Amino acid sequence: MGTKGKEIVRMDVEELVGLLNRALSDEWLAYYQYWIGAKVVRGPMKGAVMAELIQHAADELRHADMLSNRIIQLDGTPVLKPEDWYRMTNCGYEAPEDPDVRAVLRQNIKGERCAIETYNRLLGTVRDGDPVTYNLVLQVLQDEVEHEEDLQALMEDIVGREG
Ligand code: FE
Ligand code: FE
Ligand code: MG
Repeated sequence: MGTKGKEIVRMDVEELVGLLNRALSDEWLAYYQYWIGAKVVRGPMKGAVMAELIQHAADELRHADMLSNRIIQLDGTPVLKPEDWYRMTNCGYEAPEDPDVRAVLRQNIKGERCAIETYNRLLGTVRDGDPVTYNLVLQVLQDEVEHEEDLQALMEDIVGREG
């Protein structure tokens, strides 16, 4: 990274890269959970749910891109092996073994709630030490808040229709 750009980072860069790599692992797992969920999902409003899951998958992939770019900017190395995603993740991975829309939505809502908590915590950690990462994490957090809202709205539509 550039000399001045590095100078303004007022926190342990190695620790910061570690936290960003944990988030990067989350994003890849979230990406795949949405991507495969969109393939297998079955049940009421399947088309609308599929479209939302595909859109969220694209967002999670974009988050992975943003995080890995910042890691490289900090002279760190983004996670190189998928096997490390499981070791480093904050929010884990839930296989959509039950393809019912409600089950898939429930799993993804849980994942988004964990993501919101994780990014909110990370935001606090970088607030005073790294304004550039702060801005990045804030953008991601805004997306995750929107994701939770979208999935909850779909769930309410589906449950409401049946009730
Ligand atoms: Fe994300
Ligand atoms: Fe998300
Ligand atoms: Mg959405």
